[in-house]
Amino acid sequence: MARRYDRAIQRWIREEAATPARTIAIDGPAASGKSVVGALVAARLRFRFFDTGAMYRAMAWLALHRRINIEDGDALAAMAESASVNVKAAPEGSTEPTIVVLDGADATPHLRDPEVEAAVSLVSRVPRVRAALVRIQRELAREGGVVMAGRDIGTVVLPDAGVKVYLDASRDVRARRRAAQMRRPHGDAPEIDAIVADLARRDGLDSTRAASPLTAAADAMIINTDDLTVEEVVQRVLVLAAG
Ligand code: C5P
Repeated sequence: MARRYDRAIQRWIREEAATPARTIAIDGPAASGKSVVGALVAARLRFRFFDTGAMYRAMAWLALHRRINIEDGDALAAMAESASVNVKAAPEGSTEPTIVVLDGADATPHLRDPEVEAAVSLVSRVPRVRAALVRIQRELAREGGVVMAGRDIGTVVLPDAGVKVYLDASRDVRARRRAAQMRRPHGDAPEIDAIVADLARRDGLDSTRAASPLTAAADAMIINTDDLTVEEVVQRVLVLAAG
């Protein structure tokens, strides 16, 4: 079965994937595997991959760096609207798949800082911050050949995406995956409980905010990844894309 799919996918990649209009939207909650899956799907299809979470994280980093009050929506909006935002797909195999440079400063090394993690959902709830970033995201996808991951890609950013996927997983599974991802050879294993609490906090903020809350598009394929390997999820997305 898997081999038959593989052959069909390979043929589709050769014959059709190069069609420029193709875009793949991957949405889902924090640590649901969007980036890992998105980057692999993009690599197989020779598409570019953009993790839009990196753009919101970069904005949160800039706000902290400039000591802007994270509760002040107008100040955050003014910052986002005036910043020059440069987004690039990182070379394959980089730690961060998406490079974000704001006003000439590379935010990429700071995207996973705990302070950024704590602030990002407060920054991303501001409608004018979202509008500024959505404009750039649409521009990045304009030529097609793009896989884009986030919270609102299928619903708001690219409502006409050829493929829409919503990746879901239980909070416990997501916390365990996040812990495995964060484990450093010489560092302490992070506390699962603390990660679960942070995911719960971000899930709550992201799905209840007024502007573009996290939700699956009506026409998205919902994939629960609790019992699937990364490769199995990647195959499912490729099958949909070849559809
Ligand atoms: O995907 P990641 O966990 O890196 O996203 C960080 C945060 O950025 C999310 O918790 C959410 O608040 C925000 N985000 C968003 N819309 C997107 C992508 C991310 O609001 N399209």
